[in-house]
Amino acid sequence: MKLRFWGTRGSIPTPGETTVRYGGNTPCVEVRLSPEHLIIMDAGTGLRGLGEELIATGESVKSFIVITHPHWDHIQGFPFFKPAFISGNEFTIVGPESKQVTLRQMISDLMNKVYFPIQLNELKAKVDFHPVKEETIPIFDAQLKTCYVNHPAFAVGYRIDWQGQSLVYISDNEPFDLGITKQMKNVDKVIVEKYLQSKGDPNQRIFDFARDADVLIHDTTYTPDEYVNYVGWGHSHYLFSLKVADEAKVKKLVLFHHHQSRPDEKVDEILETCREEIRRRSYSFECIAAAEGMVLEW
Ligand SMILES: [Zn+2]
Repeated sequence: MKLRFWGTRGSIPTPGETTVRYGGNTPCVEVRLSPEHLIIMDAGTGLRGLGEELIATGESVKSFIVITHPHWDHIQGFPFFKPAFISGNEFTIVGPESKQVTLRQMISDLMNKVYFPIQLNELKAKVDFHPVKEETIPIFDAQLKTCYVNHPAFAVGYRIDWQGQSLVYISDNEPFDLGITKQMKNVDKVIVEKYLQSKGDPNQRIFDFARDADVLIHDTTYTPDEYVNYVGWGHSHYLFSLKVADEAKVKKLVLFHHHQSRPDEKVDEILETCREEIRRRSYSFECIAAAEGMVLEW
């Protein structure tokens, strides 16, 4: 499996000299099972650059665009994804939908002519939609599995299993606390009820989902100090990311969804603190921070 990070930033693009190394584009990860089997995780603003590169190859593209949830930072790149404007290309957009708005409608609304000059039905590529709940679907010769996560409205994490290799992508997720979970109103009832069934730690479902993954990409928006002011916003602090990685016994943790106000040297500090914690607690996984342009291959 080969990954390339095109967008690592949470919430809003953050161009500028303080974010040059880790990047300012919002979530988008290119996953290659083979040169022709492409799965794109999230359609944040990083998707634009990936589109440019796909166009440069001059070859037609048939791929899956897998979306965790329809918040702006995870879909905003799609209207600027040039391969969707070219006939002969084919895309299947996979993602959760709410009771009120279908997956197709979410993307269509994004390109409503009030906000964008070209509408979804004017795209030249073939674009299909595959709404998901918690399930496993075949995708190329891999299995794509979904898991509900703790994020406002409705969001999922994804796991790809392919030829004995595995990747888990949980871009936006907050630790479930049993006491808080009972009163949660901003997350879909279906998800809350699923987690309340858990006897022990309600996050056990997440640990099980990420079990033994080669690579876990996990939300690390906050420091633990910051997090206390943002409980319920749907994001994690780095100690929780480390806990998920340890409980799931993954091989490598990738800190992801960097806070929009975090300059590069502060991401460095978080990474260094995480590595110290790993040494102190004798955890066995490796930890890196996602950076735009970074490639992982195994
Ligand atoms: Zn996000």
